[in-house]
Amino acid sequence: MILVNKPAGAPQRLASGAALTQANCQAYEAEPQSYLRGALKFEFKNTVYGHASVKRVLQKAQHDKCCYCEGHFAGNAPGDIEHYRPKDGAQQGRGDKAQYPGYYWLAYKWSNLYFSCPDCNRVAKRRLFPLANPHQRARYHADDVSVEQPLILDPGGPANPRDHIRFVQERPSGITPRGKATVEFVKLDREELNERRRSRLRELERLRDIVALLQKDQRPAAHAAVTDAFAELAKAVLPKSIFSAMAQDFLQ
Ligand SMILES: [Zn+2]
Repeated sequence: MILVNKPAGAPQRLASGAALTQANCQAYEAEPQSYLRGALKFEFKNTVYGHASVKRVLQKAQHDKCCYCEGHFAGNAPGDIEHYRPKDGAQQGRGDKAQYPGYYWLAYKWSNLYFSCPDCNRVAKRRLFPLANPHQRARYHADDVSVEQPLILDPGGPANPRDHIRFVQERPSGITPRGKATVEFVKLDREELNERRRSRLRELERLRDIVALLQKDQRPAAHAAVTDAFAELAKAVLPKSIFSAMAQDFLQ
């Protein structure tokens, strides 16, 4: 996981989310208990927050990678719009009952939106949004989310995920409570991901070996191979590259 740099201005399409949010806030105020019980649920327009123009901006800002696992999206598994604060219910822990109605007032909020792979979003994180102190959870639109101390790292910061999660070979390891919670709740240590990271690691090892073996070889072909390997390794640690956080830790 690396810090995501989104453009500050929200895509135009999200502007229509303001009226939808206002309507949801009014609906809540008319019958708060029904929403808190989960008897009434909000409907959200995927055609607004999930519009192609919104996805496009996020995809570009995230270099076509998932905001959590840094995996590329496969052609058959296009990405999801991820609501960092879940819009339709919030769970403190995996076995806990979801609290309703969720962060409905942030469903169309630019700062709450990212692009993630279906496995991180739908399989792992889902409605999980643990807080250091669950009693501080914002339950409706007049509550202040800034008093919350979320455990899962916000891909957009301000905390830099690199200060919280490090890699030992292909496996991520939380080095702070937030790092540990993010690895656990987003299942960043899942086998399918570790396998993909392992094969990337093999490529990086091969490049590193080329440099080590041929560095002092004066022949032009060897020199060219070393130059290419260096260039590939330099690229591997950039935000645009797959699993760049792992590459940074490997090459350090
Ligand atoms: Zn992912």
